[in-house]
Amino acid sequence: MMEKQPYQSESAAGRGHPARSVVIQSRLLADGVCGSSRTNQSLLVRGDRIRAVGAREEILKTAPPDATVIDLGQACLVPGLIDSHTHLSLAGDGRKYAEMFSDSDEMMVLTGAMNMKKHLDAGITTIREHGARNRVGFTLKSGLARGYIPGPRMLVSGRPITCTGGHFHMCNEVADGEAEIRRSVRRLVHEGADYIKIMASGGGTEGTIPGVASYTVQELHAAAHEAHHFHRLTAAHCRAKESMRRAVEAGIDLMEHAEFMDPDDQVRFDPKIAEMMAESGIWISPTLQTWCNYPRVLELKRRRDSGAAAPSEERELDHLEERMEGRLEIMRRMLDHCLRERIVPGTDSGVFNIAFGHLDYDLQILHKVGFTPSECLASATRISAEAIGLQEEIGTIEPGKRADLVALDGDPNQDVTAFSRVVAVFQAGRRVWAGPNDASTP
Ligand SMILES: [Zn+2]
Repeated sequence: MMEKQPYQSESAAGRGHPARSVVIQSRLLADGVCGSSRTNQSLLVRGDRIRAVGAREEILKTAPPDATVIDLGQACLVPGLIDSHTHLSLAGDGRKYAEMFSDSDEMMVLTGAMNMKKHLDAGITTIREHGARNRVGFTLKSGLARGYIPGPRMLVSGRPITCTGGHFHMCNEVADGEAEIRRSVRRLVHEGADYIKIMASGGGTEGTIPGVASYTVQELHAAAHEAHHFHRLTAAHCRAKESMRRAVEAGIDLMEHAEFMDPDDQVRFDPKIAEMMAESGIWISPTLQTWCNYPRVLELKRRRDSGAAAPSEERELDHLEERMEGRLEIMRRMLDHCLRERIVPGTDSGVFNIAFGHLDYDLQILHKVGFTPSECLASATRISAEAIGLQEEIGTIEPGKRADLVALDGDPNQDVTAFSRVVAVFQAGRRVWAGPNDASTP
C-alpha cells in the first residue's frame, strides 16, 4: 500500500535500496525544458533515476504498489542546481589567499566537507571543483564516492594548471611551455581529473596581474588539444581581456570571469572580442557574485535598511554599488553580442568572502542584467549541464535522467527569489535535505 509521508519527514522506507520506487508530488513542477511551471504533476523515481513524469493520477496509477509517496505540498519541483565554479578547499571567510593556503591539506579537506554540505542544502546537486592544492580535490571526490561525506555530484579538475608564479601556483601544478602543459594535462587525467582548468591570466594571487595574460595561444591550445585527446573539457580563468581573446583562439571550452580587464586594471568592453566569443560558441561563466562582491553588498544593504550602518559602511556600500553597476553594464553589453544560451552561473565559492550555499545570488544578478526568471532557471540547470558535458544525466526533469531535484517555495519561472527558498533536496532519488527544520542540519 502507498503510504503518504508528512511534508517534512524523510522517507525511511527502502532507503539505500537500489530499486525502490518513490512518487514525488508538489503543486508545481518546472522541468527546465519548457519555460513555464505545470500544476498537478508527479514524478516516479525508481532507484536513482526518474522513470516517469506526468499528471498526478496517471503516475499514481502506474507506480508500483509499494512505492513511497512524498508530498511536497505547495512547493515547486525543479532540476537540481549546478554550480560550475567552486573552490571547496577554501572557506570563503574573508581571509587572504596567503592565510587560506597556510592551512594544511588535511584542514582543506575538512573545509571542503563543510562546504559540500552547505552547497547541497542550498539545492546545488552538482558542482565543478575548480582547483585545490595537491590531492585535496581528488580526496574530496573519493570521500563522496565512498559515502563518507555528503555533497553534490562532483567533477574535479584536481589542480589548476598555471605558469611559474601564476594565479593559484600554490596548488602545485605549475607548467610553462607547451610540453610542460601537455605533461600536466596527462598527469591530472591520470590522477582522475574530470576536466582541465587552466589559468590564462593573473588573478587575486599576490604577485600576479589580473589584467595580463599568462599563456600564449599556443600554450592554451596545447592544454585544450591534450585534454580533448582524453575526452576532457577545458575551462580557462580569463580576467584579462587579452586572455579572453587567446582562450577563444585556442579552442578552450568554457571561459571563466570574462572581465575585459586591461593591464592597467581598468575594465573596458571590447565588442570585437564579444563577437569572437559568440561566434566560437564558447561557454561563459561570468562569476557575477564574486565580480560584484554581492554578499558584502547584501550585508551592507541589510545594515543600512535597519539603520545600523556606520557612515563608513554607507560609503563602502555606495562605492560597491557604483562598481557593481559598472560591471553589470559590461555584462549587458556582452549580452548584446553573446547568446544567453551559452551563459552559466558560477559562484567561485571559497575565494575571498564568497561563502558556499549561494548560487541564488548569481541568479539574482543575472536577473538584474536582463535574464527572465525562466532563463535563470535554464542557465542553472539545463544549460549548465550541457556546458559541463553532463546533459545526458542531469539538468532537466525527464525520464531517464538522474533524480537530482530541488523543491522551492515559490515559482522560479515567475520569481527569481524562489531560488533562495529551498525546502527539500533530492540527490539520485534520495532525499538528502528536508528543509530548514531538517534535524540533520546544524
Ligand atoms: Zn575560481
